[in-house]
Amino acid sequence: MSKKIFVTDTILRDAHQSLLATRMRTEDMLPICDKLDKVGYWSLEVWGGATFDACVRFLKEDPWERLRQLRAALPNTRLQMLLRGQNLLGYRHYSDDVVKAFVAKAAVNGIDVFRIFDAMNDVRNLRVAIEAVKAAGKHAQGTIAYTTSPVHTTEAFVAQAKQMEAMGCDSVAIKDMAGLLTPYATGELVKALKAQISLPIFIHSHDTAGLAAMCQLKAIENGAEHIDTAISSFAWGTSHPGTESMVAALKGSEYDTGLDLSLLQEIGMYFYAVRKKYHQFESEFTAVDTRVQVNQVPGGMISNLANQLKEQGALNRMSEVLAEIPRVREDLGYPPLVTPTSQIVGTQAFFNVLAGERYKTITNEVKLYLQGGYGKAPGVVNEQLRRQAIGNEELIDVRPADLLKPEMVKLRAEIGALAKSEEDVLTFAMFPDIGRKFLEERAAGTLSPEVLLPIPEAGGVTKASGEGVPTEFVIDVHGESYRVDITGVGVKAEGKRHFYLSIDGMPEEVVFEPLNEFVGGSASKRKQASEPGHVSTAMPGNIVDVLVAVGDVVKAGQSVLITEAMKMETEVQASIAGKVVTIHVIKGDRVNPGEILIEIEA
Ligand code: MN
Repeated sequence: MSKKIFVTDTILRDAHQSLLATRMRTEDMLPICDKLDKVGYWSLEVWGGATFDACVRFLKEDPWERLRQLRAALPNTRLQMLLRGQNLLGYRHYSDDVVKAFVAKAAVNGIDVFRIFDAMNDVRNLRVAIEAVKAAGKHAQGTIAYTTSPVHTTEAFVAQAKQMEAMGCDSVAIKDMAGLLTPYATGELVKALKAQISLPIFIHSHDTAGLAAMCQLKAIENGAEHIDTAISSFAWGTSHPGTESMVAALKGSEYDTGLDLSLLQEIGMYFYAVRKKYHQFESEFTAVDTRVQVNQVPGGMISNLANQLKEQGALNRMSEVLAEIPRVREDLGYPPLVTPTSQIVGTQAFFNVLAGERYKTITNEVKLYLQGGYGKAPGVVNEQLRRQAIGNEELIDVRPADLLKPEMVKLRAEIGALAKSEEDVLTFAMFPDIGRKFLEERAAGTLSPEVLLPIPEAGGVTKASGEGVPTEFVIDVHGESYRVDITGVGVKAEGKRHFYLSIDGMPEEVVFEPLNEFVGGSASKRKQASEPGHVSTAMPGNIVDVLVAVGDVVKAGQSVLITEAMKMETEVQASIAGKVVTIHVIKGDRVNPGEILIEIEA
């Protein structure tokens, strides 16, 4: 009996999100679409996740236009997207009218299959998106965000899947974003799901720990019908099992996918060349890394944290932060670590380590989380911490979006004539700052995507040598001499610059990132806090808002500043009661720990 396995290829979304910081451009997708469309995939994942953000922020592409172009170029294949439930593609809960408008427009512009997840696995946050997908006549896929913890049992996941089936979902996906699944756990989970629900099961597993193909095979043997793969030049490691490998593995068995291996290999060669173009975005953490099986921290989150720690000049605290993450996660009732909870947990863990005292600073996002603002925690939260964080404020026990008023009218008014379509309004809704900037630059004709550095092997690197400028040096390190040649230098982009060197003939690439601009800048003129009335912050960061003015009388404990570090906001309180006499910062300033930001006189 044939139990044909259906394949979803992630090459146009998750594969490059996992390996190349989501940087693949539409111009590198379109030339191969004709071939992709002939493969016979069940679907191609092409949109959502971080693609929307990357398009607007870095590539200066209209994400809606990308979707329309892919739709036209892939007439015979289902197009799929990843949607963060009530968060859509942003980082907060949107009102229901925004969710409905977004899903309707995504459907009209070309999406057939919506994979919908919630970072808390709180199905209340999926409901409106599922209903909107069904109203548009499209495929609604309910998603289990897989994680491990004392409360994440097979029974709990099955119960969630049953709820999603009752809500009208057409299928269920097991989303193992971190590579936590093991083969036998997968087999057990799929078997239990198949026994209790009648929907097709999709398995989306990242190969971070090198286990994904084994997990998929066990899922298949236990009744899963669908697997997510990535064409091999963009597969494995933090990405997914290779399409060609899985097709070959199942060929001739009862699970044969029926896909043409030679056609897939041609597509693989095309993307092999494409990947080289984006070498500057290759993460150093894309190979197999089994640490997630010990510390439960997803690889993507580790690399993200590493970048942010580097920005804060605190990369040496990484192992302490990794040890603190599970403790914070336990305090928060074991949320799965996926956008946005991964950031919320990671940043709070970092603050706990850097401050030398746990929860001395609590981010606004952790407060909102403990209040119930993201939905119901999977487990029990630390009640003492909750009281400390939210004080006497009321708990939110309804679906968070029930508290939100309709927003579309307001959003349309705010963006005004810059929006040429409802899609533009939604772009602005997802990313108020960079979305507006994108629409402004588009109107002014000044959109300019970040620069792609030349491929070093191709020799297209700018020559560093100028007349009379030495580019060869002999240096001594511990008594040994090395010959260093500067062979080229890339264009400065995002504050970073690549230098190409050779050391004793061996090529080396160095990415030069200047230290944070605030070091040595005007900010360094601020004196160090020495008195109780000196308001300072424990974290380096940006001033988001100044809540007081000179002359104001404040109470001890009153919030006087909002700062932002690592995408999370923190309120800074006055430590004494008194009168504000001097304010040393304005909105947008970068500040360092211990500097006097505001002076209060008792
Ligand atoms: Mn994924």
